[in-house]
Formats: sequence, C-alpha cells, structure tokens
Amino acid sequence: MPIYQYCCQACGHSFEVLQRLGEGAEQLRCPQCGAPEPVKQVAACAVGKSQSLGGCTGGSGFS
Ligand SMILES: [Zn+2]
Repeated sequence: MPIYQYCCQACGHSFEVLQRLGEGAEQLRCPQCGAPEPVKQVAACAVGKSQSLGGCTGGSGFS
C-alpha cells in the first residue's frame, strides 16, 4: 500500500496515511485538530516536514 502525505487545511499539520488504491480521503481526519478533508501533498509539504507550521497554508493557517 502506498503512503500518502496529507496536509490539514485548518491547522497546517502534515501527516502520512497508508491508503489503499481507490480509497478516497473523504473519511480522513486531521490527527491534530480533527478537521475533515485534508489535502493530499505531493512534494510541497514534505519539504517542510521538520518545520511544518505554516509550510502548507502559506503561513497564515496556524492560529
Ligand atoms: Zn488539523
């Protein structure tokens, strides 16, 4: 199973999810704040893994 990286739109938290092929992200929740529908990341979020705050939402998502 591939591992996808997701980024929460609400708090900017990035996390990895083991996901089966064909399985959507509808039931995924942010493990940090519980917000639904995280955004699948290809590369942008992975770059800032050690400094993920603000890395996904342009710096305005963490409040
Ligand atoms: Zn979140």
